[in-house]
Amino acid sequence: MNHKWSEKTRAPNGDSRKVCTREGCEIVCVSRHRIEPNGRQDHYKEWFRGSARIQIGGNTPACEAVEVRVGTAGAAVQFTLARGGSDVG
Ligand SMILES: [Zn+2]
Repeated sequence: MNHKWSEKTRAPNGDSRKVCTREGCEIVCVSRHRIEPNGRQDHYKEWFRGSARIQIGGNTPACEAVEVRVGTAGAAVQFTLARGGSDVG
């Protein structure tokens, strides 16, 4: 399954990031742009899941979206989203 990417957001330093919006995957792809000391431009990708960096460069990791089933009995998983406040960073 291919990732379903969100729109890219661009950081002031030229990096851009996008997020897989499929439930259970939610992998983050960050495109890094660097200029090496010799003036050569370098760009590579990093992938994150949550705050953990799972891969640098190479091929895009597989999408690990969960199958969405309608009417799942039992296991009602609740995600508590800590929202509000003004987080710095
Ligand atoms: Zn994905």
